[in-house]
Amino acid sequence: MTTHSLVIIGSGPAGYTAALYASRADLAPVLYEGLQPGGQLTITTDVENYPGFPEGIMGPELMDRFKAQAARFGTDCRPGRIDKVDFSQRPFTLTDSDGNTLQAESVIVSTGATARLLGVPGEDRLMGFGVSACATCDGAFFREKQVAVIGGGDSAMEEATFLTKFASKVTIIHRREEFRASAIMLKRAQDDAKIEFLLDTVVDEMLPPDADTRKLASLALKNTRSGEESNMPIDGCFVAIGHRPNTEIFKGQLDMNDVGYLVVQPGSTATNVKGVFAAGDVADAIYRQAVTAAGTGCMAALDAERFLAGH
Ligand code: NAP
Repeated sequence: MTTHSLVIIGSGPAGYTAALYASRADLAPVLYEGLQPGGQLTITTDVENYPGFPEGIMGPELMDRFKAQAARFGTDCRPGRIDKVDFSQRPFTLTDSDGNTLQAESVIVSTGATARLLGVPGEDRLMGFGVSACATCDGAFFREKQVAVIGGGDSAMEEATFLTKFASKVTIIHRREEFRASAIMLKRAQDDAKIEFLLDTVVDEMLPPDADTRKLASLALKNTRSGEESNMPIDGCFVAIGHRPNTEIFKGQLDMNDVGYLVVQPGSTATNVKGVFAAGDVADAIYRQAVTAAGTGCMAALDAERFLAGH
């Protein structure tokens, strides 16, 4: 079995940046792209806040460029994901989704985060049938339809604004009156004539027209202040309430906080296992930006390089 110097798990801005630095340092990294090659930016539209692109750039194009730059210096980018890891001894053992086992002297975990769902009745069954967690992926199915977006953060504002390209009306449903969204993105949504806000409101259930039909028809809503219940006919519902870190396969091996984000030593990307580093959203519940992910990806590669040099 080949023992690699470095295996990088995940292909978002953190993973590719780590790969770029590690390949330029002659570590011959192997990078597993995971279920969503390119990560979350591949399902977003205009990225206006990544430095170096004053006119903005489309998320998928930005990630193609990240990958090309890592590949240019020899990163071995592999489709598929790592399903199992054994960090109990070095070299570490990793098993990919085809059942192949490989060994690594060091590992960078950059598996990112996945969209969270509400967990209300109807959501699972109607996912893909009027319910979605990705406006970029599914927005075009809702031309001249009425849709709702759940959430009060930047994701909700971005999804709602994007959906106005297709939908005749977009209602942002948020459980409070205050927003987590940045002022600029909130204002953009507030200034949009197609967007309405329904505040202090939660979705209790997502409903089809009848028990035999698998298609969203309405939302059962509740006002959080008055307790008043109502029913809102709707064609589409986009859940945009944040993300959870993709750390399932590391449970019991890497230290995590109470919501599953990997814990790294302050000022470093080192996890509790020597030789295993974490970068990007998987270890960042606070900033979660492409540029911060890229920054920690660079840190992780430098940390891995130093670790390997010392061992
Ligand atoms: P977020 O900032 O954590 O906001 C999540 C929103 O969903 C909050 O308003 C929250 O309500 C609501 N929420 C959470 N759980 C809920 C539930 N069970 N029921 C109803 N509502 C619920 O997440 P995000 O919007 O995905 O943003 C994450 C990070 O990515 C942020 O740093 C953001 O700036 C960044 N981002 C940037 C861009 C961009 O610049 N283009 C785009 C998207 C995201 P409460 O406020 O009541 O908790």
